[in-house]
Amino acid sequence: MDIRQELADWLEFYRELGIEEFYRRVPGCVAPLPAAHDGTPVVAHDRPVAQSLRAAGQAPLPEAATKPALTETKPVVSPTAPLPLPRAGASQTTVVAPPIRPPAPSLSLFETPPPKPSGPETLEQIRADLGDCHRCKLAGGRHTIVFGEGNPHAELVFVGEGPGADEDEQGRPFVGRAGQLLNRMIQMIDMKREEVYICNVVKCRPPGNRTPEKDEIETCSPFLFRQLEAMKTRLICCLGAPAVRTVLGIKEGITKIHGQFYDFATSKALATVHPAYVLRSPREEKILREDFEKIREFLKGK
Ligand code: URA
Repeated sequence: MDIRQELADWLEFYRELGIEEFYRRVPGCVAPLPAAHDGTPVVAHDRPVAQSLRAAGQAPLPEAATKPALTETKPVVSPTAPLPLPRAGASQTTVVAPPIRPPAPSLSLFETPPPKPSGPETLEQIRADLGDCHRCKLAGGRHTIVFGEGNPHAELVFVGEGPGADEDEQGRPFVGRAGQLLNRMIQMIDMKREEVYICNVVKCRPPGNRTPEKDEIETCSPFLFRQLEAMKTRLICCLGAPAVRTVLGIKEGITKIHGQFYDFATSKALATVHPAYVLRSPREEKILREDFEKIREFLKGK
């Protein structure tokens, strides 16, 4: 393999492990380094490799190799919906977080990193990678990992918060009372549950159904992002605040931003209230119905 490519691969690999800075100590006599564009050999003394690479005429590693690049996209707003509220200090745009890769398994410095999978991942591969996950503290209290279920080619994907007791018991998302309400809403727009895909921000039940914590979401959401990337669905429906915050990075109250269409990678995304919230506040069912009608209209347009 080309030495520069090999070096770049190692750098990316270590960056994924959280090791950011590298120094190449060059004692007195130095092995020849790649030549710069103008042909002069480059000797690096105790400077970060990224700088050395730059000096050596090697393009710096893409931003995405160091941190997720934020894509700024204009929200696509349905004709009847109000424009999204401007965010403090920001223009009227939505910042969409792209997929984040899960932490890489640790290898010793002397082991060769595994080859990168080529081509798009499948849901089965992502599930296999998740394995019998113990990456966060939720693993201790769960019975079953609830990965998600439904049509892997669905045009509509629902993202909830995390499994509850029934889901934890059965290993399936949205099978309790909130799930029954979700099923009714899906039927209301003349779809079948088997046609859509349903998953959650976290795959294990938080104790007592509490809201998942930041570290749990950070650990688990890369798998969600990989699922979304694998499916490249037309529309993602975020159910409730944790899903909206995780998928769209929007912190505004859901009652303000629900029903609007945002860009998420090649998909559109819409936020609505969580069915469990509607079960607690039945008056809010109106919001859910209105938003599902927007989903129906969106999916009708090809
Ligand atoms: N609530 C969720 O957010 N997800 C489920 O799977 C069930 C209830």
